[in-house]
Amino acid sequence: MSVAKKYTGTIDMTKPRQTVAIVGGGIGGLTAALAFARHRAEVFVLEQTPVLKEVGAGLQITPNGLRALEALGLADAIAASSIAADAVVPKDAMSGRDVTRFDLSSQSPRYRFFHRATLQGILADAAVAAGVEVRLGVKVEGVDDAGVLQTSEGQVQADVIVGADGIHSKMRPYCQPDAPKATFTGQVAWRGVVQTRETPHEAHIWMAPGRHIVTYPLAQGLLNVVAVQERSDWAAEGWSHVDQTNNLRAAFNDCAPAVKEIIAQMDRPLLWGLFRHPVANQWSRGRVALLGDAAHPTLPFLAQGANLAIEDAYVLARCCAEADVPEAFVQYQSLRHDRVVRALAVARSNARNYHLSGIKRHVAFAGLKALGVAAPNAFINRLSWLYDHDVTA
Ligand SMILES: Cc1cc2nc3c(=O)[nH]c(=O)nc-3n(C[C@H](O)[C@H](O)[C@H](O)COP(=O)(O)OP(=O)(O)OC[C@H]3O[C@@H](n4cnc5c(N)ncnc54)[C@H](O)[C@@H]3O)c2cc1C
Repeated sequence: MSVAKKYTGTIDMTKPRQTVAIVGGGIGGLTAALAFARHRAEVFVLEQTPVLKEVGAGLQITPNGLRALEALGLADAIAASSIAADAVVPKDAMSGRDVTRFDLSSQSPRYRFFHRATLQGILADAAVAAGVEVRLGVKVEGVDDAGVLQTSEGQVQADVIVGADGIHSKMRPYCQPDAPKATFTGQVAWRGVVQTRETPHEAHIWMAPGRHIVTYPLAQGLLNVVAVQERSDWAAEGWSHVDQTNNLRAAFNDCAPAVKEIIAQMDRPLLWGLFRHPVANQWSRGRVALLGDAAHPTLPFLAQGANLAIEDAYVLARCCAEADVPEAFVQYQSLRHDRVVRALAVARSNARNYHLSGIKRHVAFAGLKALGVAAPNAFINRLSWLYDHDVTA
């Protein structure tokens, strides 16, 4: 594993070492742990699960997230353990044909497909090597105004507390007690991993009226599958509800054989309801700052939830190295808020665009085809505000 190549934060060796407690050892929490440790903070991670286990198989990590990971010294480990994406290919799920192809091969760094557990392992190993203490099986119950965390193993205190505890965050209500409730989007998603033959290094978006499927390859001959359907009945929010295979098959029964073949292999699909959460308007209080899904849960239609969590983590650690709390937290939120709001809005609108029917669908496909021919870089250019952003600059 390489050492940090261009960590650009200011490291003030005369400052006393900050103690930092990170609540949650997901992608955001472990990135924060590593970033704070690179600023010579004394860091410990409190993670409720007894082992860092796989939650959701695949992750697309885009250049904006990769820049932060590479700046933390992970470039070699990333290159060795993930797949560089060549293209995003929107497809007609009814005919099975490509609508167009958007090339990604000229990006730097390259858009990548990861197994989530692999990325989590890389981050955990690097954090531990940098001196971070990862305490597994410790559940945080709450925090008080003195910055004392109540945990399943007693009280814990730190100068800075990072709430990286995900979608059902215990830290979020402390920072924003009046947060509005999440609302059901009218969409559910199944996810799973299937075996695949030799497959191109591409993300495929199979679009059908009211539904879509995203597939992309992972290492070891696996294909990651996320299938989304619009429907009015509620499904619980969470990533681990096993659904009956027949429900998933019925939802895509009228699609092209290539789609049905993929779906047929998903023998234990996990189902979850997609909820819209407003971005927290208060990302910190006292010694506690939120990041990632704890601050802004994200719909999975732009593949940015983990990327934004990684960016947050990098920026938060730098702000805390350069200023004291609470100024550091104010600076952090002001650097992150508008970008996150914009990304979440694009993610919401993508679902609408993927699910078109009737004449709108034909017009949209014709437009995409023409764009793919006339301006093959259109996809990247349209998202350059997202992918070109460099939090390490
Ligand atoms: C199927 C699916 C596919 C996705 N694909 C992508 C993608 O391709 N690209 C992308 O960028 N994003 C993707 N996302 C979104 C991404 O997974 C999340 O946005 C990201 O994981 C958020 O990271 P986080 O660290 O904020 O939270 P999490 O990953 O949820 O981590 C939170 C951690 O906190 C722990 N925790 C929770 N409560 C407590 C407590 N009280 N005490 C101690 N520990 C606690 C949890 O056990 C967990 O380990 C996808 C999401 C799903 C569901």
